[in-house]
Amino acid sequence: MTINQFVPDLSLLLGSRIGEIRKRICNAAQRFGRDASEVHLMAVTKTVPADTVNIAIEQGVDLLGENRVQEFLSKYSVYRTTAENIHFIGHLQTNKVKKIVDKVSMIESVDSISLAKEINDEAGKRNRIMPILLEINIGEEKTKFGFFPSQMKSALEELSKLPNIQVSGLMTIPPKRDGKLYFRKMQRLYIDISNQNMDNINMSYLSMGMSEDFESAVECGANIIRIGTAIFGKR
Ligand SMILES: *Cc1c(COP(=O)(O)O)cnc(C)c1O
Repeated sequence: MTINQFVPDLSLLLGSRIGEIRKRICNAAQRFGRDASEVHLMAVTKTVPADTVNIAIEQGVDLLGENRVQEFLSKYSVYRTTAENIHFIGHLQTNKVKKIVDKVSMIESVDSISLAKEINDEAGKRNRIMPILLEINIGEEKTKFGFFPSQMKSALEELSKLPNIQVSGLMTIPPKRDGKLYFRKMQRLYIDISNQNMDNINMSYLSMGMSEDFESAVECGANIIRIGTAIFGKR
């Protein structure tokens, strides 16, 4: 098999998977009285070669989600898209912020005040404001990063003072079991914070739902869903 035969097949395959996911988003949105066009479909690219990611871009995903700094940097220049359409979604060490801050339009995985401060500093040096989401450890699991719901109030108070970040919403990876229950908790937290109308805190994005559970996430108000396996196959 030559490369030339391979590429069209992959286009068809990814195109049909993405189409299928869009259909399921539409159906879930309709069932729960939502507008499907407000749900952004993100392709999560970890372990996937840049050329394959480019096919997913061609086939109409809205965003790319990047987990790993080194891998991202090695693929970035090959991607046929711009920083505007890329979000960082993995655990980020403070010393790596400067490497990616010019290459993404949002950092979804802000899991500590010190990381937020570093993003604020690096964005400030470049005279820009970086939109961020707060990662919430909604199941309060030891193995996961993120703020506990009980830490939110004081975290938001601190973050609202940082001029070069814009808190734009929440992100989570729920426990494997009872995912829907945790999506509901996230939805409540998101609405609660939204209703508090704090300075410099917007609740515009609720990022949750992956290959196995995106329909329940849509049901619970998610407007960014992050899909790896269902687009690219098993890692
Ligand atoms: C890998 C990953 C996903 C996608 O997971 P799939 O189950 O492959 O769809 C979503 N969000 C984050 C943060 C991830 O690391």
